Amino acid sequence: MTIRTGGCLCGARRYEVEGDFDGVWVCHCSLCRKATGSVGNAILIVPRAHFRWLAGEDHGVTFALRQSYTITRCKTCGTPLPAETDEKNVYVTAGTLDDPLGTGIKTHMFCASRADWDHDRSDVRYFDERSD
Ligand SMILES: [Zn+2]
Ligand SMILES: [Zn+2]
Repeated sequence: MTIRTGGCLCGARRYEVEGDFDGVWVCHCSLCRKATGSVGNAILIVPRAHFRWLAGEDHGVTFALRQSYTITRCKTCGTPLPAETDEKNVYVTAGTLDDPLGTGIKTHMFCASRADWDHDRSDVRYFDERSD
């Protein structure tokens, strides 16, 4: 089984996930846009048995924004980290993985709520590093 690790920006919270995944889910709903300050939340759905904390399990703070919507962040650096509110799965914030996933985005959800700038313009520019 493949093991991949991930963690927050400051390194206080570390985790590992086991197995292979068929893709990442991106939620573009208005809550995920606000909570991430970006296009939305990119999530890897991991069965609970395949997720383990390596460090800082108790170093998170959970914000219950609504009954059905919470986000958990590292207490020190604020990185949004795996959510464990579901009995079956852990919702891992895909950007916190250290290792390549070997797949791509499989599903975009709440596309009707996308920000109007959430697409590439025809003259979009790409830089391998900074843009200056
Ligand atoms: Zn941290
Ligand atoms: Zn959402």
